[in-house]
Amino acid sequence: MTSPPSAPPRRRALRGPAVTFRADPFLDDPSRALVHEPDALILVEDGHITRFGAFDALRDAIPEGTPVTSYPDCILSAGFVDTHVHYPQLPMIAAYGEQLLEWLERYTFPTEARFADPVHAGQVARRFLRELLRAGTTSAAVYCTVHPQSVEAFFAESARLNTRMVAGKVLMDRNAPDGLRDTPQGGYDESLALIDRWHGRGRQLYAVTPRFAATSTEEQLDLAGSLLRQRDGLFMQTHLSENQAEVDWIRQLFPRRRSYLDVYAHAGLVGPRSVLGHGIHVDEENFCTCHAAGCALAHCPTSNLFLGSGAFRLFDAVDPRRPVRVGLGTDIGAGTSLSQLQTLNEAYKVAQSTGRRLHPAQAFWLATAGGARSLYLDDRIGTIAPGMEADLCVLDPRATPLMAQRAERCETIEDLLFVLMMLGDDRSVRATYVAGELLHDRDAAPQAA
Ligand SMILES: [Zn+2]
Repeated sequence: MTSPPSAPPRRRALRGPAVTFRADPFLDDPSRALVHEPDALILVEDGHITRFGAFDALRDAIPEGTPVTSYPDCILSAGFVDTHVHYPQLPMIAAYGEQLLEWLERYTFPTEARFADPVHAGQVARRFLRELLRAGTTSAAVYCTVHPQSVEAFFAESARLNTRMVAGKVLMDRNAPDGLRDTPQGGYDESLALIDRWHGRGRQLYAVTPRFAATSTEEQLDLAGSLLRQRDGLFMQTHLSENQAEVDWIRQLFPRRRSYLDVYAHAGLVGPRSVLGHGIHVDEENFCTCHAAGCALAHCPTSNLFLGSGAFRLFDAVDPRRPVRVGLGTDIGAGTSLSQLQTLNEAYKVAQSTGRRLHPAQAFWLATAGGARSLYLDDRIGTIAPGMEADLCVLDPRATPLMAQRAERCETIEDLLFVLMMLGDDRSVRATYVAGELLHDRDAAPQAA
């Protein structure tokens, strides 16, 4: 909807300490890559950031009548970006006992079957997006189910909130129960209809979404590749080399392919805006292919630990000699939290277990600018700068008594960010702004249901 020419711009200003990035802290010195403005002003007009800098330098630039909201004890950041998550699995988070393949059979498929009902899909989509905003996450790459109505419900709710989301219908034509399988042509036609309805509509973007190579025939994967060529700017998301039993199964199903990644590459699915979930059991040749193709890996540490899948080799992936784009994923329902702070907590531990140290600036880069870059959306989201979309979260590093006493000992912004990522969760998200609008306020009185 466009405003009449006479409508005044919608303006607001946020003031407080702020962090963002001027460079990639995996390629540059992390402390130099991090921008820290101890008393910043962010000016927002019609959903975009127009000014960002020191409050003292910008105070005279605030247009008269602009409301200024101050968060002196918090940290303003770009909203978090989740590059791999399944909204229909929210109801089955924390499902006991299994590893990947049995977990899919026992918990995931029955849960996803319920999304044939559009009312149920709408209810879960609403709850999921509300939880994302409570976690400070403003953009995500989201799997729906095989049912087109699950996609419709998700985009409808995202459009209502005006969140920038990437999502798509799961393609799955084999090795799944009745009611959860499509056909190569049926999946193609349904996807194309959804693309025409939602891709580029407002802030919504479409991802062609074959679940993984075991649940799609070669014919379906080839058609997914041809779908990607039908419209500009489409995304592709799937899973890659998460679990050893899964990798062995793919080798049996596709004996002619050199590797799991090659199954997707052969179908034309590996390129810019392709996001491959996990990528744990991969080799140097796979990393080189990802780098050359420009695709991204979604690192999902809470999920990998929960399902016992293995340890992602983050620092091998981002090796400056051939860096692969990496974002963070919560991977609900195998992941155990929608919070990127909790996800960073586990990412730090996984890095430690591989003998590496995840610097807080590198961590927050993954959760914001790096995630945006892995989705090729870094010209719109992921940093605080003029021209960027005003998706922001306000982090409270003293949200709990434990955090408050630890924060007292912090002498640097890096240390304070480390406290947030190790001890923080949704309680540390004071507020979330989407396109300049306040959509989550932790301290507001609860609304009537
Ligand atoms: Zn997943």
